[in-house]
This record gives sequence, structure tokens and C-alpha cells, in this order.
Amino acid sequence: MIDADSLQRIALAFDMATRAHEGQRRGHGRGEPFINHVADVARRVSRSAAVDETTIIAALLHDVVEKTDHTLDDIEATFGAEVAKVVGEMTDDPSLSRKARRRRQIEEAPSLSSRAKRVKLADKASKMASIAETPPRWWNRSKVRGEVDWARQVVSGLTGTDPDLEADFDVEWRRADSAVGS
Ligand code: ZN
Repeated sequence: MIDADSLQRIALAFDMATRAHEGQRRGHGRGEPFINHVADVARRVSRSAAVDETTIIAALLHDVVEKTDHTLDDIEATFGAEVAKVVGEMTDDPSLSRKARRRRQIEEAPSLSSRAKRVKLADKASKMASIAETPPRWWNRSKVRGEVDWARQVVSGLTGTDPDLEADFDVEWRRADSAVGS
């Protein structure tokens, strides 16, 4: 049984994420509400046999620093250093170009903490599911193809992390792969 304090902290994290991402939408502002992605990542990561409170809270907050005014210090003050560390691992360096950020995700995947690896697997699975279900029609095919290929490259650095989450990613990756075509 999960204790009442844990449930309260998880609910508080969901509340923080909902407020922080209010008004944001996926796909350059034209897709579904951004919070749907955050909730989906938390739902996916919760399927892991090794999930704990810190991992679920970090999943709920994983895009807050990258996409809103919140800082890692805010997160540390409310949820502690462990959650802030995982969110920090999920946050790309905004001073880098898109290309450099993407390359860095591939390079850094094998050395992430085990919690960040789980959130990363769930994040990439969520993105692949979203491509499979609602292919962003304003993107050109080669860009979406690049997105699908890049996700596979990042996740290849996460092999051996978590059988449940790797299997979930594989299912969603195959769906996205066939939706986009070659
Ligand atoms: Zn995300």
C-alpha cells in the first residue's frame, strides 16, 4: 500500500504540472493539450515493476523546467533533491542548437540514472504513440521519419534498463514506424 504522504506529493506534482503547462499544446501549439503527454508519461512509467514515488513525480514534472518558467530550485524546494536531479537529467541545455541537443541525448542516455532512464523510455514511448495516433500533418514526412529514427537511437542507449518499459517503447515505436513509412 502506498502511504498517504506519497499520494499527496504525487497529487501536488500533478497540480504543479497542470498549472505550469496550462495553455500549452503539443505539435507547435496545434496538437492536444501538453498536459496529456505528461499524464501519459506518468501512466507509462507507473507500469514498471521498479517504479517508486520519486520516479512518478519526476515523470509528472519532466518537461516543466524545459518548457515553463519553473526552475530546478523550485522543484528541489517542493519535492527534494532526488526529484530535481531526475528532472535535471530530462532537461535539454537550451543554449545548444536543436541538432546538438539531439546528439547529446543519444550520447548521454547510457549514463543517466536508472530513474531518468525509466522516465526517458516512457517519454519516448509517449512521443511515438502520439505520432502513430495523430501524425503531425504539418510536418513533412522526412522530419517525422527523423524523429522516429532519433527516438530509436536514444533508446538503444537504454537497453537493459527495464523490460516492461522497453517492451512498451518497442510496441509504440513499431506503430509509429509503420504510420510514417519509409
Ligand atoms: Zn516529454
